[in-house]
Amino acid sequence: MTDDMPYAEVIGDPIAHSKSPLIHKFWLERLAIEADYRTCHVSAAELPDYIEQRNTDPAWRGCNVTIPHKIAMLDLVADPGGVREKIGAMNTVVRQKDGGLIGTDTDAAGFLAPIADADWSGKHAILIGAGGAARAVIFALKQAGIGEITIIARSGLKASGMLMQASVKGGVLPMDAQLPAADLLINASPLGMTGKPPLEVNLDPLPADALVYDLVYAPLETRLLRAAKKRDLAVVDGLDMLIGQAALAFELFFGATPPMEQDVELRKLLIAR
Ligand code: NAP
Repeated sequence: MTDDMPYAEVIGDPIAHSKSPLIHKFWLERLAIEADYRTCHVSAAELPDYIEQRNTDPAWRGCNVTIPHKIAMLDLVADPGGVREKIGAMNTVVRQKDGGLIGTDTDAAGFLAPIADADWSGKHAILIGAGGAARAVIFALKQAGIGEITIIARSGLKASGMLMQASVKGGVLPMDAQLPAADLLINASPLGMTGKPPLEVNLDPLPADALVYDLVYAPLETRLLRAAKKRDLAVVDGLDMLIGQAALAFELFFGATPPMEQDVELRKLLIAR
């Protein structure tokens, strides 16, 4: 790779687990675009310096942003789309041709895409977690007309603030609460991810037509999804969202549409690694 070769990256702490480089490199290769995509470990303390340094690097096209920077990033780059008010978290930063940095969110659209064919209007969703991804989920569900969201989180105050900010009807329960009956259960916490504690929930209160959606994608089949399958509930794993949010970011970084017709092959590659 030469010094002036365009590149983008995913930043976070931890970051080694990220599958984003596999996805972006797959598309770059298939489209024969001469550019690179890599991981970059950035701690919370390093984030302001990282942004300042990348701002002066013309080869840098932007970055995807993961745990724990999605909220802190709001204060560091321009927000022309009003992501702060609408979602309250940023997962993508793009370098403009004039050098300015703008932030946006591709998680909300990436989350909704795999379940967009169903009618969610007036339905009840349970959301576990109250971080950056959960904010994007609330925004997406509101767009889809959801009737009510129950958030299960360790910080009740944060969770009720999120519902209030989004003007969504709902309530907040502690982590050890029994699930209410609901149409959709979403895990937007890192629980169940490799290296994190498992997510312990009893799915019995969910009706037979409920859908269980785990944003965690490493491992792909989490204990939550295994339990849901055991009950014959419909499930969605984290890979579709991962690919969906990456596709939107790829267009912003490299100005090309990813070859989505090769999704099956990409999924196989992601599962194998
Ligand atoms: P985040 O901003 O750090 O938020 C994590 C949330 O989970 C916070 O509400 C946090 O609680 C809560 N949490 C963390 N550890 C917990 C524990 N031990 N017990 C209870 N709650 C806990 O992270 P994020 O960006 O929202 O990501 C959350 C998960 O979604 C990660 O697994 C990430 O990989 C996944 N994700 C997947 C995709 C995809 O494309 N599939 C996209 C985005 C995120 P506090 O608020 O109290 O700190």
